[in-house]
Formats: sequence, C-alpha cells, structure tokens
Amino acid sequence: MASTTNSKRAKFQPVRDSYLVFGAPLIGEEEIAEVVDTLRSGWLGTGPRVARFQRDFEAYNGAPHAVAVSSATAGLHLSLIAAGVEPGDEVITTPMTFCASVNAIIHAGATPVLADCDPVTLNIDPDQVERRITSRTRAILPVHFAGRPCDMDRLMALARKHNLKVIEDCAHAIETEYHGKKAGTFGDFGCFSFYVTKNVTTAEGGMITALTDADAARLRILALHGMSKDAWKRFSDSGYKHYEVVECGFKYNMTDIQAALGIHQLRRVEECWQRRLAIWDAYNEAFRDLPLGLPAATEPATRHGLHLYTVLVDEQKTGVGRDQVISDLHDSNIGVGVHYRAIPEHPYYQDKFGWKPEDYPNAMAVGRQTVSLPLSAKMTDGDVRDVVGAVRAVLAC
Ligand SMILES: *Cc1c(COP(=O)(O)O)cnc(C)c1O
Repeated sequence: MASTTNSKRAKFQPVRDSYLVFGAPLIGEEEIAEVVDTLRSGWLGTGPRVARFQRDFEAYNGAPHAVAVSSATAGLHLSLIAAGVEPGDEVITTPMTFCASVNAIIHAGATPVLADCDPVTLNIDPDQVERRITSRTRAILPVHFAGRPCDMDRLMALARKHNLKVIEDCAHAIETEYHGKKAGTFGDFGCFSFYVTKNVTTAEGGMITALTDADAARLRILALHGMSKDAWKRFSDSGYKHYEVVECGFKYNMTDIQAALGIHQLRRVEECWQRRLAIWDAYNEAFRDLPLGLPAATEPATRHGLHLYTVLVDEQKTGVGRDQVISDLHDSNIGVGVHYRAIPEHPYYQDKFGWKPEDYPNAMAVGRQTVSLPLSAKMTDGDVRDVVGAVRAVLAC
C-alpha cells in the first residue's frame, strides 16, 4: 500500500471490486410491491397511502400529529411560518448542520443566528444559545446531530423562559429518544427527512410532527397551495368538492408513490437500527487503538438514532489530513461523507451575514476534521470488514 512518507501519496488500491456507496438505502420486496400497487391503483398523488403513512408515523413517534411533505427542507420552511416567524425575527441554530436548516430560516424571511456546537456531542450548546437570545429572537432550531439528541431539558427551559418557539431538525433522528420520549415531540414542531441516505427513505420526502391541532391544520393547508382542508379528496369518489384558497401556500405535498415506500421503510425501522448498532459497535471495537476521534458515548437516558458514524482526523496525530483520508478511501472503493463543513465556511453566508469560521471554533474544528464512514443497514459483515481494512491501511495502522 501507499507510503505516508512521500509528499505525493501513491494511489490506493481498491480493497474490493465494487464501490461501497455511502448511505445506500435498503429497499425490500414489500416496498417494491407497494409502489407497483400504487401505480396500478391509478392514484399517484397525495391520497390514501399518505394518510396511512402519517398515521403510522404518529404511532411510531408518539406526536399527536404528523404531516407528510416533499422534504425536510419544506417541513422546516412550513414549520417556521406556522411558528409565526416573520421578517425581522431571529432564529437560533447550529453551525454544525446541513445548509437546509439555515436556508429554511432565510426563506421564512428571518435572520439566522448561529450558536456554536459542543465539541463532544456536536450538538448545539445551550450556553451559546442563551448568549445569543435578543429581543428579536423568535425561535430555536436545534439539530439532533447524527441522531444524538440535543439537551432538550435545557433548550426547552430557555424557550419557556424567553417565550420562544422550538423547531427540532430531526433529519437524522427518527429513532432518537431523550428521557423516554422520541425526538420531534419536545418542540412545537419536528422535521424528519426521508432523503435517500436517511434512516427511512421515500427517495425524497419529509414529515412534520406538531403538538397542536391548530398547527397541524395550518401545516396541511400551507403544504398544498393554501387550499382549504382535504382538498386532495376533491377528485375522489365521494364527489367533486370546491376548495377555497385561504392563504398563499406552497406545493410541498408528498405523493402516494413516496408514501408506498415510507410505509414499509417505517415497518423495518427498528430492524435497521439494530443492524446499524451492530456496525457501530464493530467500528468502535475495530478503531479503538487508532489515533482517530471516535463518536462520544451515548448520554444516559437517551437513545442515539445512529444515523452517522463520524470520526475526526487530526493530522497532528494521524500524519494524514482529512481530505487525503477521503480521497484514499475513495480510491479504496469506499464511499464516505462529510457532515459537515461548518456553515460559516460557505461563501454565501460569509457575504450575506459576515460570518467567519473562527467565530464558531468548535464547529470549525470539527468541520475540518470530520469524515462519515458508511453506516447503512444494507451493509454486509464483509462490507464492514472492507471499511475497517481500508481505514487501517489509509492510516497505515
Ligand atoms: C438531510 C437534512 C435536511 C434536509 O432534508 P431533505 O429531506 O433533503 O430536505 C435538513 N437538515 C439536516 C440536518 C439534514 O441532514
């Protein structure tokens, strides 16, 4: 294998014939059959399967209401609007997240404010949040990073004290629990993603959980052009019904084809979590002696959603930089991800808000060292061995 002493490393040889795709979904025959049935049924748009997926999700999550949408990004946008967030308002979120969390705040017309993450949990630090609350703060948007629950006791206490709305970004956190309750049941809203790489997938899709009847009703209207309730039934066999547009909404509804996937994905969610737990434990064991930063232990009375297995590559300790590790793993036929370069690293936010990476030192440091290894329930034991072997070879350990 390549020598680490040369300034230009030789190209790594593949550890396997086929490329191990990062975040490959596990699609079963049930999903395929349900999609085919949906296509044959003639009802492809928002209909009975979406209604069933929403009920199933409520049963799994425990929130009183689940509203299916076209993506988590759409869900965040609608939740912010339903939370009453308006231009001039500030919404506090984390720099250690996907850009969608921040973009949704901007699309709602508000100003995003970043509170740095904790260097160990990688979740938003409640002390940093508290420091950034002003008279204009309207909401907090915490992200349960990698599936690890945020400190919801402290965040909800801050929200109550300052009369703030809370929108949980649960894109990584379907299985996540905190003190006996699922993520998405603490804040006013929880937004889940069913993007291909997420723990449950509908190819593209999302779900919003809401605590009150009024919020759920508003979300359903906002997600479909602002049309009055049950507009999706207007072409059904119960007879044509006029709809009324009651506000200027969006086209953010989920289709029955997506829900057909989601219904069966959700049925295997625990089985897939168990499989990822086995992979997680195997990585922890295999990398114990390596000079890598491994995920922190799960906090007591919580359940980690195990969405991302992120390791930190500190070039001082490994002799190899993060980007070199990524490219060597790629050459080895192992697909990896970066979750995430900190939000202030991106030129748009630097130009628009004057954010600098150094102002968020924890997110900056993590974002420059982090690599996500494959953690899909589809992986075989052989795949896991390939990842372990490739990581050891790249680090020459
Ligand atoms: C994937 C993701 C989103 C966006 O989800 P989509 O369904 O693709 O819109 C938002 N936030 C986080 C943290 C994510 O990982």
